[in-house]
Amino acid sequence: MPLLTVEHLKKEYPVQPRSFFRRSSDVVRPIADVSFEVNAGEIIAIAGDAASGKTILARLLTLLIRPNKGSVIFDDQNLTKMNDGALRPVRRRLQLLFSDPRTALNPRSLVSDMMLEPMQIQNIGSADEQMTTVKNSLRRVGLNALLLDHKMTDLSAGERQRIALARVLTLHPKLIICDDPSRAMPPGAAESFFRLMSELRRRDGVSFIFLVRETQPAAQFADRLGILYRGHLVEMGKTDLVIGSPQHPYARQWFSKGSVPPAVTDVSLKGCQFHPDCPDVMSSCRECVPDMFTTPASQMAQCFLYKGN
Ligand code: SF4
Repeated sequence: MPLLTVEHLKKEYPVQPRSFFRRSSDVVRPIADVSFEVNAGEIIAIAGDAASGKTILARLLTLLIRPNKGSVIFDDQNLTKMNDGALRPVRRRLQLLFSDPRTALNPRSLVSDMMLEPMQIQNIGSADEQMTTVKNSLRRVGLNALLLDHKMTDLSAGERQRIALARVLTLHPKLIICDDPSRAMPPGAAESFFRLMSELRRRDGVSFIFLVRETQPAAQFADRLGILYRGHLVEMGKTDLVIGSPQHPYARQWFSKGSVPPAVTDVSLKGCQFHPDCPDVMSSCRECVPDMFTTPASQMAQCFLYKGN
């Protein structure tokens, strides 16, 4: 059984009509229909541009916001049916790493205070045991315990994100969801950060979901790669297959041209959300949203080109 099963997840918000052409029934769907699984000890990367819905997806998976439809089943428990009190112990095992620790954590706090906080909130262990866990976690991310007396503002971007990761590790999570964790880092630090997480998977069996804007460097450490476009997971498969032989027309443009057209912003657009820019568009694409189909290259693509394969 997978560690995480996400089924037809959807989040929508009503849009205030601001023009004659916009109807009061219009909604934006930052996450329109997302389904995938993560196995124990697996790393998956999901890449998407700024309007793809990555940050909302990260928050939906950890139930920081509630979906309108769909389910998140983690460790055999349907999180979408649980109230906040019941979710609290689950959050030890399912953690979220934010893109920039400067905004997620108080920059004026001492590193030691920030690292102790999750165990204090969860009421885990004595003060001595908590400090031992903090020092162990720092060691696991390659940092020295001398940093405990520093403030976040004293640290580099790479050190800050390692501290944030060490903080999450104090709770011994099974799955860590990373929302663009290298966004504030220089390229070299970003690659070594993803390598560190890959080591944590190898050593301790921690699973990861990397939600990223660029496929590299995250994808080189991921078993599977997904492509998110306007709230739809349009392609998912083994990393080397998706990069080497992308099947969805949007993914093909992503990898062949190195750039993709800006996502359309028309909230009333029907059918496949890529159809205004798709070179393979058919009449059915303008009317209906395709299901996920298996492609001849054996990845999954949300595209009518592969219907009936
Ligand atoms: S469903 Fe149609 S419009 Fe959408 S990507 Fe496939 S061929 Fe293009």
